[in-house]
Amino acid sequence: MASIEEAKNIIKDTPISSIINFYHPISKKGADFKGVCPFHNDTKPSMSISDSKGVYKCFACGAAGDGIKFVQDLRNLDFIEAVKDIAGQLSIPIDEFKKKEKNPKFEMGFRVLNYAYKLYKKYGSDAKPKAFLDFLKNRNLNEESVKAFGLGFAPNNNPLSTFLNSMSSGKDKEFATKLAKEIGIIGDSNRGGGQYDFFRDRVVFPIHDHAGQVRGFQARAVLDGQKPKYMNSRESFIFDKGNILYGFNIAKNNIRAKDAVIVVEGNMDVVVLHQFGFNNSVGTMGVAFSENSCRLLSNLTKNFYLGMDSDAAGMKGMERINEMLLKQGILPKYIDFSPSKDPDEFLNEFGRLDLVERMDKAPTFLEVKIESAIPSPIPQTTDKKLSALQEVFKIVSPLEDNLVAKEKVILAAQALALQSSKDDILDAYKKFLSEMKEKKNRYKKPPQQKVAQPPAAQSFDGPPTESYAEEYQGPPLEEDQHMPHDLHEATSVNAPNKAEVMTLGTLVTNPECLESKQIAEILDLIDHSEVKQLINWLKNIYLEIDDADYTNFIKSKLEENFNKDLKNVMASSLFNYNSLKLEKKVIEKMMTDLKVKFEIEVLMKEKANLLRLQSEAITEEAGLKVLADIQKVNVKLNKIKKK
Ligand SMILES: [Zn+2]
Repeated sequence: MASIEEAKNIIKDTPISSIINFYHPISKKGADFKGVCPFHNDTKPSMSISDSKGVYKCFACGAAGDGIKFVQDLRNLDFIEAVKDIAGQLSIPIDEFKKKEKNPKFEMGFRVLNYAYKLYKKYGSDAKPKAFLDFLKNRNLNEESVKAFGLGFAPNNNPLSTFLNSMSSGKDKEFATKLAKEIGIIGDSNRGGGQYDFFRDRVVFPIHDHAGQVRGFQARAVLDGQKPKYMNSRESFIFDKGNILYGFNIAKNNIRAKDAVIVVEGNMDVVVLHQFGFNNSVGTMGVAFSENSCRLLSNLTKNFYLGMDSDAAGMKGMERINEMLLKQGILPKYIDFSPSKDPDEFLNEFGRLDLVERMDKAPTFLEVKIESAIPSPIPQTTDKKLSALQEVFKIVSPLEDNLVAKEKVILAAQALALQSSKDDILDAYKKFLSEMKEKKNRYKKPPQQKVAQPPAAQSFDGPPTESYAEEYQGPPLEEDQHMPHDLHEATSVNAPNKAEVMTLGTLVTNPECLESKQIAEILDLIDHSEVKQLINWLKNIYLEIDDADYTNFIKSKLEENFNKDLKNVMASSLFNYNSLKLEKKVIEKMMTDLKVKFEIEVLMKEKANLLRLQSEAITEEAGLKVLADIQKVNVKLNKIKKK
């Protein structure tokens, strides 16, 4: 999840035209966009929007500003509200309680990182160590590249540890040293205490985030026999590899201007690509690439070139990116660098023009995948042909029934010399899609909460809804003998009802629901004291901890003594948890559904009561009266069911 500050930065990196477009129709006129001004009584398009400047301006009434201001004025929102609103449009999940940048840990962490960065850079440029110069010469890196990417050199006399040791304030010194260890740039010495620098005699590539702040380092071996070849600072509170694109801070304006991005794997490749004029290149850290990074890039351009290594890991990485982009209807292209192993080698051997040519001719990654799915020579048996076709179905499936997908499927069937008609092939593909969707839904469904039911439930003549029915199959609740007393009181008589259990499960799987406005209402509907306590606990920790720690917090809670059925619910719900956040709309719908479950719960209780009265009724008249009441309850239940 992004903090408000992070969301603001992403918004500022997004073309203003795409932001305004979410709220107000505009159209492209030359390099800029034009639209009717919403801030005065405009009849002709008086407003101009410039992506390169990032501002709008009305030539009639003088209204002007950036994307956030536009939304503020249009919707009458304050700054933070507007950021949140735009973030919603861009599907950036926000945690407004996360104020990382103001956190003392982050401030000190950045201080340490910035100091180390300057130190390596200065040592490289001033001391000019031979190993550094040799490296630059051998790799044909020029001075501009060194400067632009802030390359430096780490000497072997532990200057970083020495600096930290010399800090005047004892408190700062202790804190900074602790963080430097956590970030993974110094370590404790084995002999006689003290610290040593992690990077020694290495070329250092600083890793900047998209705002240009150093978050970590990659240090490359340059001496004979030096191992390992690469050393990275650790993933930590300050360094989340999946969310960083190497070189993005330098490339972002070029990506927008050239309306294309080249995604490669290694830092070295990015530096060399930039040096050869491909300054719209970014690198994934290893093969990690998050949905956030994907969104960040696809907000700037829809033209992607993938040029990661062609080994198994690189192919896997590209497959992942390809799939994410296909889901957005973007078909990335694939740059083949063979016979070279990477862009660095290719450019140094063949030069810039050859790469331009390869990019011009680049097939889509989808085509490459399909080609590899069709065996050569084509198989003889229909069985094998069909299984190859299934493979193609799978490859194009992120595009769903998009025209491109259908075309590819038909072409593949032809290439496999299958005799079926186009319609039959397309039908088979549609069937494949719906089966896949079904599988996914099954997977996504909240955990089967094998949950206890009050004994009275057995006399119910059927649960009101289908999904409800499944939950009635659980074993009766057993009292947990080890339950501590303070949790014991209310629960020893009452087992939690299904709605309560479901609420707990839903909140563990999707804790972001705790930010819903409906949550207070739902808490009021919960009678079961233990469930109530658990949800309150969840609410408290969720607002305080980092997403990364969430799983651990729940797990440690499960080690405490409480109702074991609730424990099971929490554990199985945790299994379905992931850090991706649901959209607000979905959350509110889920909360509304939960409220309905509570309504049903109340009605079921009423009905059980009436059924008991019915069996106890002595006169026919009394029996009929109860029956009428039961009918009324049934009508209500049916009404809810229809909702
Ligand atoms: Zn105006």
